[in-house]
Amino acid sequence: MIKKTLQEIAQMIKIENDVSSFYDTVIQGVSIDSRKIGQGNLFVPFKGENSDGHRFVEDAIGKGAAAAFWQKDVPNPPLHLPILIVEDTLTALQELARSYRDELKVKVAGITGSNGKTTTKDMTANLLSLQYKVQKTEGNYNNHIGLPLTILALEEDTEIAVLEMGMSGRGEIDFLTKLARPEAVIITNIGESHLQDLGSREGIAEAKLEIVNGLQENGLVIYYGDEPLLDGKLKSYNGSASLRTFGRTGKNDIYPMDIEQNDSGSMFRINVSSEKFYLPVLGTHNVLNALAAMIAASHFGVPYEKMNEGFASLKLTNMRMELLEGKNGEKIINDAYNASPTSMNAAVELIANLPGYKKKILVLGDMLELGPQEEDFHYSTGKSVDGEKVDYVFTFGQLGKFIAQGAKETLPHERVAAFTDKQPLIEELKKHVDQETIVLVKASRGMKLEDVVTALQ
Ligand code: ATP
Ligand code: MG
Repeated sequence: MIKKTLQEIAQMIKIENDVSSFYDTVIQGVSIDSRKIGQGNLFVPFKGENSDGHRFVEDAIGKGAAAAFWQKDVPNPPLHLPILIVEDTLTALQELARSYRDELKVKVAGITGSNGKTTTKDMTANLLSLQYKVQKTEGNYNNHIGLPLTILALEEDTEIAVLEMGMSGRGEIDFLTKLARPEAVIITNIGESHLQDLGSREGIAEAKLEIVNGLQENGLVIYYGDEPLLDGKLKSYNGSASLRTFGRTGKNDIYPMDIEQNDSGSMFRINVSSEKFYLPVLGTHNVLNALAAMIAASHFGVPYEKMNEGFASLKLTNMRMELLEGKNGEKIINDAYNASPTSMNAAVELIANLPGYKKKILVLGDMLELGPQEEDFHYSTGKSVDGEKVDYVFTFGQLGKFIAQGAKETLPHERVAAFTDKQPLIEELKKHVDQETIVLVKASRGMKLEDVVTALQ
């Protein structure tokens, strides 16, 4: 993590007060949460509409922070303490990260896309760790605050940083990629999340493609080649980066062959190596995430033959395709972390094709923020359920009702039910689960559908 004297900090960013009496003070690491302050941290308060982090500055310093930022327009800075007055604390945090990034020799792999960023980030970091000292975005710290904090947490001897970049509107990825200056970038896919803000899938593709703007000379763009929007827009790309695609189909630079799935993961081969790979996470969509990670790792010199070792130690962050067991011996896939039509369809397909279960139950909740076509998206998801392979569809929420409507097109009506309360849903579910059952639970984060998982355990 960053380790600097205040004198050095004063050379990296614009400070509005005279801090020369504190020049020898050393800060180590940066924190925005006074409850989690580490010894020697620089504390960065934000002035929000409802709460103001400046209230916690003295507390943070009392708990071990070596210094704190203070936004100019906030009155009464406690100037007897090591306070750095800045025009805007967020901008100062970002500028500090930018300046620190410029000092580091680290190479960066940047990851964006509608679904699978965190998963692909974890996979890429695992593969690169076979040969390098790697650091990665912790959890989901992928935005205009999280990315600067991640950069400021990088050690000087870290060789490669794998950084996730998220967005909810235009211009955001542009900002993040120019801060991170990646050598390689991955665009996992284009889905429908944030359709509400960006208007169309094309708008989403353009926003994700901004990641190319921060690439270093002769970099690499790795993208999902089965997505016509990405392929179309990158056709006219005339920058210095090379392009490599991954996808399900044979037109891609790298594609999977002979995928076999069971309930602990997938086995597959790829077209560019004779190796057989074993990926201990569920779903063929995760095979695609793995392919993207493999191209990135291979770019940095990790041989395909070594990659199984990197996959073996893979642990995905909670609630992403977690396989659990319920009280009646049923298996539960907890994918309640999030949902969009693309990821929902991937999960529904996974359950339909999973061998070894006599009864398959989908518990699907609302997918939020989809804009004016939201009802259609839910209906289509329901309709895409394979009634031959799936036994029950239970939905939760107001939009979930449309999934149920769609599912009634393919399943007998009595095997589909829509709920707007969790308790009756849980009661109904309990009637059906046994040792030969698999249940998939998935919805947008806001629906908190993990409550259903907890109730079964
Ligand atoms: P966020 O925008 O919340 O940061 P993310 O892009 O980081 O999300 P992950 O956290 O890796 O995505 O995965 C979220 C969910 O998306 C997973 O639980 C899975 O259901 C789904 N998913 C992951 N990868 C893909 C993919 N390549 N295609 C479709 N769905 C995917
Ligand atoms: Mg993420």
